[in-house]
Amino acid sequence: MCIFCKIVEGEIPSNKVLENDEFLAFHDINPKAPIHVLVIPKKHIQSFQEVDSNTMANITPFIQEVATKLGIDKSGYRLITNIGYDGGQEVLHLHFHILGGARLKWEHVAEDPKKNI
Ligand code: AMP
Repeated sequence: MCIFCKIVEGEIPSNKVLENDEFLAFHDINPKAPIHVLVIPKKHIQSFQEVDSNTMANITPFIQEVATKLGIDKSGYRLITNIGYDGGQEVLHLHFHILGGARLKWEHVAEDPKKNI
């Protein structure tokens, strides 16, 4: 079972922000911003590349509700999902990073942005 499935099952503890039947939001264990929360579907889906449109439709208002609960819906935030090896995905269970609480930089996305152009 993957690490996020274990969090859903309660086998690994998490600092929960919001939960419903389909989705769970919890604080990232290694935050990269003052606010760093992960949103996952409870059912195992490997990545955005495999997700169905119904799940995406349902996760949208859930993410918006999480942002409101975190108090960053007005100040803004970044929503990221890493996909596969080049995307830097380490946990192979679909998750959206919500990053906020500070003015975020937008640089060094690639180690060498000119490579392969
Ligand atoms: P990614 O690199 O997009 O797959 O992101 C995986 C994220 O999961 C990283 O930001 C990790 O810090 C986070 N993470 C891994 N294990 C845990 C855990 N047990 N609880 C909370 N966050 C975790």
